[in-house]
This record gives sequence, C-alpha cells and structure tokens, in this order.
Amino acid sequence: MLHCINMTLPKTHPRYQSLCIRERLTDGVRTGITSQAGLIAHGRGEAFDYLLGECTTESAMRSEEAAVAMLLAASRPVLSVNGNVAALVPGEIIELGRVLNSVIEINLFYKTEERVRAIADHLRLYGASGVRGEHPDTVLLPLPPDHPRSRVCKGGIYDADVVLVPLEDGDRCQALADMGKSVIAIDLNPLSRTAKAATVTIVDNVVRAIPNMIKLAIRMKDLDVDLLDGIISRYDNEETLRAAIEELVTRGVAEV
Ligand code: ATP
Repeated sequence: MLHCINMTLPKTHPRYQSLCIRERLTDGVRTGITSQAGLIAHGRGEAFDYLLGECTTESAMRSEEAAVAMLLAASRPVLSVNGNVAALVPGEIIELGRVLNSVIEINLFYKTEERVRAIADHLRLYGASGVRGEHPDTVLLPLPPDHPRSRVCKGGIYDADVVLVPLEDGDRCQALADMGKSVIAIDLNPLSRTAKAATVTIVDNVVRAIPNMIKLAIRMKDLDVDLLDGIISRYDNEETLRAAIEELVTRGVAEV
C-alpha cells in the first residue's frame, strides 16, 4: 500500500490509495521525473483500475506468476523503467531487480537528458546501482531510428531475452516481440495494443503488481527450471485477457 507524502488525508478515506498515487505522480512532475503526458496515461489506467475495484484479480495473479517464472528462467532479464514507475514504485522495482538478478534500464517516451538523469538519481537514492539507459548506445531494430523510444542499451534491453515493460506503448512492445524477446507488460487496459502484443500481460496496477511479483520471486526463486517451464507453457495470454475483461464487466455490473 502506498502512503501519501504531503497530503493530510485519513487512511480510511475511500479514495486514499488513489489520491496517494496521484500525489506521487504530480510530485514526480514537479521534480522532473514524470512527464505531463504520464499524468494523462495514468488517467487512462486509473479508469480501468476503478472498474477492477482497485484490487489484483485472479487472472492478474496468474499473469504475475507466469511473468515471474519467465523472468527467473531467463538468461538476460531486463526491467524497463519509465517516469511513472520511477515515481510510484522506485524502491520496489529495484528490489525486484535484486531478487531476479535483473538489469534495470531507464527507457522513456518523452525523453530528455535531464529527465533520464533525474530518474537515475532518484533510483540511486533508493539504492540502485548500475542503472542503464543514461547513455543508450544502439537502436531497437524494428523501429525507425527517429522513434522516440528506439534508443536502448547493448547489454540491456537490446540483448535481453525477457523484458518487463510496465506502461509500454504498443509500437515498442511489438518491436520487442518482433525481435524474438518475451515481453511482459503491466497495463491496466486489457484492450491496449501493448496488452495484445505482449507475451504476458498483467492487467493490474504497478503499485500492486510489482510488490506481488517480489513476493512471488522470493517464493519461486529456487524452483527447478522444469517447474518454471511448466508454469510458462500452461499460460495463455489471450485467455487471460478475456478473463480480465470478464472480471471488469462482472464487477462493473455488480456495482450498479
Ligand atoms: P497502446 O499504444 O498500447 O494502445 P496507449 O496509447 O493506450 O497504449 P499509453 O499512453 O502508451 O497507452 O500508456 C498508458 C497505458 O498504461 C494505458 O494503457 C494505461 O491503462 C496504463 N497505465 C497507466 N497507469 C498505470 C498503472 N499505474 N499501472 C498499470 N497500468 C497503467
């Protein structure tokens, strides 16, 4: 659970968590970590989260388990971080990287050197070391070189076999998949292009998904590779997206 930094709001307020998330993001804009467009992207996600009842659904839990299995079985796992993730779950994404022994790379759509530096500094405050993305040195192949998100790091996203992309855009998710990578997306919108293009889509809020994944990674990290492969091969992303939409609709109808 996130807590408010400056706002004085009773924890019993029905929208406490949602307002704390908004506060973190507006604070992120103030400190140069989050882009203004990131606030709008959050708005789209927030609407879906409202319909989901702001909780991790059964299908999301299955995706989180499959995602962790995939990251644990990977040879070169990478966690991609953008301005919303850095503002909302900085400590948690670093902890997940540590448990999974995974590279962390900053990759921004609305990219400026200042914002990349601000995010890297922010992550270092939370204990990160060796964060990549400050000096991306190559281009993601299926994207035009002038695409805002085409520049990535060798030894990072470029060479990864499994990439976790919380809040990704559809083009880049597709480009990563076209390069033969397994892509794990966290996206509250089960209808987005990203959700459809990813190998595993977690329809959950990053503020719940990343802590859940840390717990799962700690629990699963000593599992035999055959058991991990079994979890991965039983997972079906299309079926999971359908289940997520059913959960949205069922809960919405029950509320009326
Ligand atoms: P696409 O190109 O995949 O169709 P899009 O254009 O709808 O995506 P973007 O603006 O690129 O979306 O990214 C925002 C996405 O991130 C939205 O789909 C939104 O649901 C999701 N999102 C926003 N905030 C969160 C959050 N806290 N946790 C999980 N997902 C979120």
